[in-house]
Amino acid sequence: MSTAHPRASAWHLRGAGGAELWIDADGYLADGPVAGAVAVDCGGATLEPGRVCAHTHLYSGLASFGMPPPVKRPEHFIEILERIWWRLDRVLDAPALVAGARWAVAEALLAGTTTLIDHHESPNLIAGSLDLLAEVFDELGARGALCYGATERNGGLAEGRAGLAECARFVRANRRPRVRGLVGLHAAFTVSDTLIEEAAALASELAVPVHVHVAEGVADVQHARALGYRGPLERLRTLGALPPGSLAIHGVHLTPQQVASAPHIWWVQNPRSNQGNGVGYPHGLVGAEGRVALGTDGYPAQMDAELAELRELDDDPAVGPRRLAAGRALISELFDEDISGLTPGAVADVVARDPDGRARHVWVAGAQVVRDGALLTGDLGALRADAEAQAIRLWDRMAVMEEME
Ligand SMILES: [Zn+2]
Repeated sequence: MSTAHPRASAWHLRGAGGAELWIDADGYLADGPVAGAVAVDCGGATLEPGRVCAHTHLYSGLASFGMPPPVKRPEHFIEILERIWWRLDRVLDAPALVAGARWAVAEALLAGTTTLIDHHESPNLIAGSLDLLAEVFDELGARGALCYGATERNGGLAEGRAGLAECARFVRANRRPRVRGLVGLHAAFTVSDTLIEEAAALASELAVPVHVHVAEGVADVQHARALGYRGPLERLRTLGALPPGSLAIHGVHLTPQQVASAPHIWWVQNPRSNQGNGVGYPHGLVGAEGRVALGTDGYPAQMDAELAELRELDDDPAVGPRRLAAGRALISELFDEDISGLTPGAVADVVARDPDGRARHVWVAGAQVVRDGALLTGDLGALRADAEAQAIRLWDRMAVMEEME
């Protein structure tokens, strides 16, 4: 397994239509020639900014390796969570988590997705889990933001606090330049007011935003209403857990007015997941246009596939490019650097994309991670073999858990 961390060097890229980019040795786009730059003729490939997957779950990275369906077929969204994803997250151990994350991050880079914002849960492996993921980002050379999605659904408040403690530990210790730590909550309907208030206090103390699922299914709305709130968005805001810059995921069951009432947060739409789970289309997100990014919610980070689903669902041809631009604005804010495009001074997260959509070359902060469609920072065959071996072990453990329930 390669653990060679990619290094930045100076580059001179020539792409389709006579486009030229200069990248300095610190990994920033320059406004003219850079001494010692390595020349790369990208042929007919278009030079574009690296894509951002603004919400995903790397813990499901092994799912594409033959995860068997549950014996009792889920009938609705909550049963999909209970019978598939909440079983998978409980059987995760370190080797399986790392193998799945490596595979998913490698797939992302090969698709020209340079940033992944992950929302992690592994209830039987909480402490240290974010370091395991961060090391994968470092090793493969991807950019990312990580959090543990604190929840009380297995072990009550103690479990929730362990999740927040992992976020706090990681944020305080993290020194990785391409990785950020956030405070995470799973969703309002799996946490108490006490935990939400503790998450709010922690985010304030650490000066980081909160990453949380909001109004993905109607159950989240009903739960908040039963507690006397208008909905989960209002509950989280009232308790202080959506500070400026926070990431609210899905927002399916909200009106444009509700969405507009929280102007300083980011929203992330996940079209394939919303369709797959049958939860509906997030029409209310028009209330936050310009601050709605695109995520894959655990699907492979091929943003082309997510854009294709979006085109099926939304008549506005500009919506896809707007979502991608919002993702870049979001990470520019998270990293406090200009990662918004290909202008001089911006961080050089660059993809040379062939006319057929494939990513030919990929750079993250000036370090090349994909060349001629091949991963430079890891042995893809070894990553696949490891993922296959860990997947077999994981499906056995899930089957045992299902029998015990
Ligand atoms: Zn999600």
